[in-house]
Amino acid sequence: MPASTLNADLHCHSIFSDGVLTPSQLAERAKKYGVDVWALTDHDEISGIATARAAALDCDLRFIPGVEISVTWASKTIHIVGLNVDETNVTLIDGLAKTRSGRERRAQDMSDDLAKRAGISGAYQGALKYVGNPDLISRSHFARHLVEIGACTSVSDAFKHYLSDGKPGFVPHRWATLSEAVSWIKGAGGLAVIAHPGRYDLTPIAFDSLFQEFRSYGGMAIETITGSHSPDQYDEYAKVANYYGFFASRGSDFHSPDDDGIDIGLLPALPASSKPIWGHWFDT
Ligand code: AMP
Ligand code: MN
Ligand code: MN
Ligand code: MN
Repeated sequence: MPASTLNADLHCHSIFSDGVLTPSQLAERAKKYGVDVWALTDHDEISGIATARAAALDCDLRFIPGVEISVTWASKTIHIVGLNVDETNVTLIDGLAKTRSGRERRAQDMSDDLAKRAGISGAYQGALKYVGNPDLISRSHFARHLVEIGACTSVSDAFKHYLSDGKPGFVPHRWATLSEAVSWIKGAGGLAVIAHPGRYDLTPIAFDSLFQEFRSYGGMAIETITGSHSPDQYDEYAKVANYYGFFASRGSDFHSPDDDGIDIGLLPALPASSKPIWGHWFDT
């Protein structure tokens, strides 16, 4: 069986970042929805990997240890997924700790901004109720709180009216550099993947620079089939991947059964023209 017929879902989040399920619950859900190869990719965090690996083994699921690193590139936030990383690699562990370190201060500033610009008080305490990992308070936790208090009707509505660039609750932040993220991933034996490229607000020239720079550092792949892309973007980014010589990755970016997004394992297959990144580890 060629690798592209495997149901690979190489992007999702647990309570160790901004997902709502435990790594074990995710493994069970992935199995239930027909996933063959599964990666846990928490934001800036690899503490869930040991449990995820054990849970995957228990339910006979092939497992890839992963991470999704927050990067600032050309003043924009870009996400770089690392696949098949060694979670005991000290440089990766230290780099991720540094990347997480500003989140607490940022969250308090977000809360102050929501109070000042939108009259919403106590958002920091509210968001904390949703946080599973004290090191990893994120905008998703604020979004869930804003839905709970009735300020928004859904998490995506919360990002439309708050928390996004220019809206109340948005606080600019400097994450890792692109070169750091790729080098941490490579140093830990992993492959670097640009997550959901269709989500970035970049000009065609800036996209070309991003792809070339990423490739020059040793970046290997882009996500083409992701929960963040429309069907038109599946085709568009499959072509982009082939143009730059990148492998293609596939992942739902699943966070919660309550979100509108696609569930784990339920994305369409890669087109035959794509080179699946998981072919590095699994043929059949
Ligand atoms: P942070 O790392 O704290 O900036 O939070 C980023 C997270 O917010 C992403 O990983 C998504 O889970 C979530 N997010 C960002 N934009 C949206 C959106 N428009 N709709 C739903 N979730 C979003
Ligand atoms: Mn997220
Ligand atoms: Mn992302
Ligand atoms: Mn993600």
